[in-house]
Amino acid sequence: MNTVDPNLPLKPSEPKNVTVIGAGLAGLSASVTLARRGFSVTLIEKNAYLGGKIGAWPVRLSSGETQFVEHGFHAFFRHYHNLNAFLDSLGLRKNFRAIEDYAILGLKGQSFSFNGVAKTPLLNLLSMAKTGVYRFRDVFFHPKLVGLLAMLRFDPGKTFQRFDQLSYQDWADRLGLPPSMRLMFNSFSRAFFATPDRMSTAELLKSFHSFFLSHDGGLIYDYPTRDYQNTFLAPLQKELEKFRVKVLLSTPVEKIQKSPGGWQVLGRDYAYVVLAADAAASKRLLEASEGLEQADLLTRVSGLKASQGYAVLRLWTDRKLDAQLPGFVITEHRDVLDSVTFYHQIEETSRQWSQKTGGGIYELHCYALPDHLTSEAEI
Ligand SMILES: Cc1cc2nc3c(=O)[nH]c(=O)nc-3n(C[C@H](O)[C@H](O)[C@H](O)COP(=O)(O)OP(=O)(O)OC[C@H]3O[C@@H](n4cnc5c(N)ncnc54)[C@H](O)[C@@H]3O)c2cc1C
Repeated sequence: MNTVDPNLPLKPSEPKNVTVIGAGLAGLSASVTLARRGFSVTLIEKNAYLGGKIGAWPVRLSSGETQFVEHGFHAFFRHYHNLNAFLDSLGLRKNFRAIEDYAILGLKGQSFSFNGVAKTPLLNLLSMAKTGVYRFRDVFFHPKLVGLLAMLRFDPGKTFQRFDQLSYQDWADRLGLPPSMRLMFNSFSRAFFATPDRMSTAELLKSFHSFFLSHDGGLIYDYPTRDYQNTFLAPLQKELEKFRVKVLLSTPVEKIQKSPGGWQVLGRDYAYVVLAADAAASKRLLEASEGLEQADLLTRVSGLKASQGYAVLRLWTDRKLDAQLPGFVITEHRDVLDSVTFYHQIEETSRQWSQKTGGGIYELHCYALPDHLTSEAEI
């Protein structure tokens, strides 16, 4: 909530308190980082659990066993430099493993997998042809080759000026994007929680640049081999305790007020506020707040659109799918299915359960729900 001044020292010279609103990954890492630097931190979370979208909770199976279930399987890419450095500072990535492969499966039986794709930018583009995502002749002799080259030219200012008001679907239609590329980018769009008709072309180009062209970490990502409670939340909780971070769960913040010494939140004064709630909640919170001088911040946050809804379903089955597939597959969008994670192939407790019972554990994700589906029963 305060303008960042890089000239200020990293550690306060006198006691300063700060409140962090929202205990997702952003709020947890802000809390730990600030507490390590000597701030007195209060972390306030609306939910009864830590972690936000990487939260986890125990479920009791019909067999009487208890297993932890997380909010949803996550891919941790190698170019998440800040996040990886933070997780390393806690020693949390020792339980991560590289996914050997993952695939996009098309409705017509197409299958594209990514383990052979080169890591070096530009060479990775060429080697992508080996996966079948595109054919050289479809691209290099494409009648609108110049338009396609926009994919290689990301500029934060110009790309947004030119493409932010254009949906990815319209852009792909205008260009006549080859079908396999379209299938891949449709999945990409949905993985960012928007159907192609609602995805800004500028956002898609930005993501393509950041995930593919701006680093040499490759497309193979890492994932935790244990549930998120054991992988992230328990060690993070310990770190919060070690640095005496005060954690308030089940405590929604409704508004923030400017006070003489900083900010008032839930009746207490803080020198600083870190707003780490999700976009929709931040928007509501700022709009209900009083005395905010940062009209610019308010305008920017008010302009944010919430992404479409998502759904996650974890299934324990009495047998396993008879197919040789990697632990994570993206499906060409069909109704509400965008991806399947084969938990018994990637997570330790699930693997043990599967060995014992012969069953499988599958997690189905939908990243961009149709608007008319609002209740769990309908989904
Ligand atoms: C199913 C699924 C799969 C995903 N897969 C991937 C993936 O593979 N790779 C990847 O990089 N990303 C993935 N993501 C996205 C990733 O989870 C998020 O980008 C990331 O976790 C966001 O962290 P955050 O802390 O910014 O927000 P959140 O996790 O949303 O945390 C915000 C917190 O603020 C709290 N809050 C909101 N309002 C208030 C209030 N008024 N008062 C107090 N607290 C409040 C919320 O309860 C929440 O705990 C996935 C997301 C989902 C849902």
